[in-house]
Amino acid sequence: MAVSVTSAYILALGIIATLTIASHFLTDRINNQQREGAKLTYMIGRQRSLAQQAVINATIYFQSGDKLQYDFLSQSINDLESGHKSLVGLIAKKDYFGTVPSDVLYKIYFESNAFGAKSVDEFIQAARRFMVLPVEGKEEERGRLINALSGELSRRLIVMFDVALEDHQEELLQKIDKAYVFQSWSAFFILFVLVIEAVFIFSPLVRRIRDYQQMLLREALEDHLTGLYNRRAFMKRAAVEIGKARRDKTPITVVLTDLDHFKSVNDRYGHKVGDVVLRRFADLARESFRSGDVVGRVGGEEFAILLPNTATERGLQVIERFRKRVCETPCHYVDEDGVQKSLSFSASFGLVVIAGEGWTIDQLLAAADEKLYAAKAAGRNCVISGVLQSKDQAIMPPADQGAALENAASDAN
Ligand code: GH3
Ligand code: MG
Ligand code: MG
Repeated sequence: MAVSVTSAYILALGIIATLTIASHFLTDRINNQQREGAKLTYMIGRQRSLAQQAVINATIYFQSGDKLQYDFLSQSINDLESGHKSLVGLIAKKDYFGTVPSDVLYKIYFESNAFGAKSVDEFIQAARRFMVLPVEGKEEERGRLINALSGELSRRLIVMFDVALEDHQEELLQKIDKAYVFQSWSAFFILFVLVIEAVFIFSPLVRRIRDYQQMLLREALEDHLTGLYNRRAFMKRAAVEIGKARRDKTPITVVLTDLDHFKSVNDRYGHKVGDVVLRRFADLARESFRSGDVVGRVGGEEFAILLPNTATERGLQVIERFRKRVCETPCHYVDEDGVQKSLSFSASFGLVVIAGEGWTIDQLLAAADEKLYAAKAAGRNCVISGVLQSKDQAIMPPADQGAALENAASDAN
C-alpha cells in the first residue's frame, strides 16, 4: 500500500508541476514577445523621425551649402543607417521555435514589393550620393536628387513606417488578447486538474491514509487473537476510568481472571484448540459485560475486567454469573480428523473494589492478583474478593462474601 500511495501522490504532484511549468514558459514567451514588440515600435518611430530630420537637413544644406548643415545631414543619415541595421537584424531574428518577433514587420521589410528594407537602402544611397556632390557646378544633379529625397523617396519611407507602426500596433493588441485568453484557459485548466486530482487522487489518498492510521491504531491497541483490548490499551482505558470514578466519587470493581489448568488444555488438545478456548472466553466476556465495562487480555490466558460505577455486591453478582456461564458453556472445536467436538473449561477470579481514593491501576491489578492467587489456592473456578478502603489500609476480604464464594466454588466443583 505504501508504494501505491507514494506513486499516486508523486503522479498528482507531477501533473500539477508540469502544468505550472508549461504555463510559466508560455507566459514568459508571450511577455518576451510583448517586450520585443514595444522595442520595435520605439525603433520604427525613431527611424521615421530620423528620415524626416534627414530630409529637412538635406533641404537646408541644398539651399545654404553650409558646412554645419552638411554635418547635421551626415549625422542623421548615419543614425538612420545604424538604426536600420539594428531594426532589420531584430525583425529577422528567429527564436528557439523559429518564430520571428513580428510577422507583420517581417512581411513589410522582406516580402513587400512596394516597401521593404530596400526602400530605406535606396533613401540612404540617394542621400549619400547627394552629399558627395560639390555645392557648385553640379546644380542640376543636386536639384534632381533633393527632389527625389524630399519627394518620392521620403514619402514612400514615411508611408512605410506609418503602415509598419499601425499594423504592428494592431498585431500587438491581437497578441495581448490571445495571451489573455490563453492565461484564462490555462488558469481554468490548472484549477480543473486540481479539482479532478482532489476528487480522484488526494481524497482517496487521504481516506487510505486515515484507514491505514486507524488500522495501525487498532493493531496497537487490540489483542490479535481475541480482538479484546491488549494490556497497553486496557491500562490506558482503566486509568481514565479510575480518574473518572475519583472525580464522580463512584466505586469501581477491578477483576483479574486466569483460565484454570490451561496448560493441560494445550497439552491434551493442542495449541490450536487452546486458542479456540481463549477466543471462546473472549466472546463470552464480550456478550456478558456492558459497553461501558473494560475487558482486556493482559497475559497469555489472563484477562482483566474493569466495571465502572460498580460496588462490591453488584460486582460479585456480575462476576459470579460470568464465572458460571464460562464453566457451563461448552467450547466447540474441530479435532485433527475434522470431527466436531466440545470441551469444558473454567476460570478463577480475583476481585477488588475501590471504596477509597489514591489507587493506581498497577496497585489495583496487584491487589486483584493476590485475590486471584487465593482463588487458585481455594481450588480454582471461584471468585475471591476484597475491598480497598484507602491507599494506606490493608486489603480486607469481607468474611461473609468470602464464605459465599467458597460455597459457590464448591457448587461448581
Ligand atoms: P493454573 O490453573 O494454575 O492457571 O494453571 P495453568 O496451566 O493455566 O497455568 P500455567 O501458567 O502453568 O499455564 C499457562 C499456559 O497458557 C501455558 C501457555 O502455553 C498457555 N498459553 C499462553 N498463551 C497462550 C496462547 O496464546 N495460546 C495458547 N494456546 N496457549 C497459551
Ligand atoms: Mg492458568
Ligand atoms: Mg496464568
